[in-house]
Amino acid sequence: MQLVYYPDPVLLKTAQPLEQIDGEVKARTEELFELMYREKGVGLAAPQVGWSVRLFILNIYGHEDRSGERVFINPRILDKGEEITVEEEGCLSIPELRGNVSRPEAILCEYQDLSGEKFREEMHELEARVFQHEFDHLNGVLFLRHLNTTAKLLAKKLLRELEEEYRQRGDSSGKTGVRSREP
Ligand SMILES: [Zn+2]
Repeated sequence: MQLVYYPDPVLLKTAQPLEQIDGEVKARTEELFELMYREKGVGLAAPQVGWSVRLFILNIYGHEDRSGERVFINPRILDKGEEITVEEEGCLSIPELRGNVSRPEAILCEYQDLSGEKFREEMHELEARVFQHEFDHLNGVLFLRHLNTTAKLLAKKLLRELEEEYRQRGDSSGKTGVRSREP
């Protein structure tokens, strides 16, 4: 299992609902956590490893405290709070790019966990922010879309470099994008 990077097409498409939560899904979820900790992230969505299903994980405490591990399957955002907060975000799929993003401070969400049970929960602050960032990934939305015009302009050069690297990887293997569907 490895990360796919911008502009891999799998990052821009809508992920499919996960119908069956079986042993394979559990094993892959374990791998997602290991990868996320290795990369020092606090959240990771399945499409970021080329697995285009509606599942993401997060742990806002990082690898040192596994009590924060959460798995969200087929999540929905039912409601958003009115208060908006601005924080800097980054994304493991777009290395080195960071930028301020406005998001609701609170959300009401619904999801299944690995047992398949359905939950409804109100989330706040960092957890709500990471949830929204990862949720966007399931809809093919990268945090780039939320950057203001100036930040988008500043990001352009870096994005072009990533596009060039992606093209070169594709040329060298001769099968652009194929690998992304086989995590
Ligand atoms: Zn991301």
